[in-house]
Amino acid sequence: MFDDLTELYHQLLLDHNKSPRNFRVLPDANRIAQGTNPICGDNYTVYARMDGDVVQELTFQGSGCAISKAAASLLTENLKGKTRAEVKAMFDNVRDLITTGHSHGDLGKLAALSGVHKFPARVKCALLPWHAVAAAVEGRGETVSTESEKE
Ligand code: ZN
Repeated sequence: MFDDLTELYHQLLLDHNKSPRNFRVLPDANRIAQGTNPICGDNYTVYARMDGDVVQELTFQGSGCAISKAAASLLTENLKGKTRAEVKAMFDNVRDLITTGHSHGDLGKLAALSGVHKFPARVKCALLPWHAVAAAVEGRGETVSTESEKE
């Protein structure tokens, strides 16, 4: 159990939870989306500035558990400069990683999320920021909830 927890709360996740990157409102955002996970109480707003198809800037605000915050921090750090298609491909890859522990392709620092699959209650926490970012990047500007999924 101790080993599992150590893996889940990987040093990188601890660090991102303690000092989340891009944790601020983005005044010139042109895409905003909200994500909530009622089961855990995670609630975030994601701000994106898109230039055509490319993510120029990505920030977030809100509150939630360590996993959701670290996941949001990691993804805002890793998706800057990506195109909408690349964001979608990465989301698919990370979803596999978080739900199965395996990824297809190099995820860099996002691999820190691989331990989450051992804790089913935390999977939605880790995926929530991704759902919100996907909604923002795709310009859906809506509130996404982990409870509206049919997974
Ligand atoms: Zn959570």
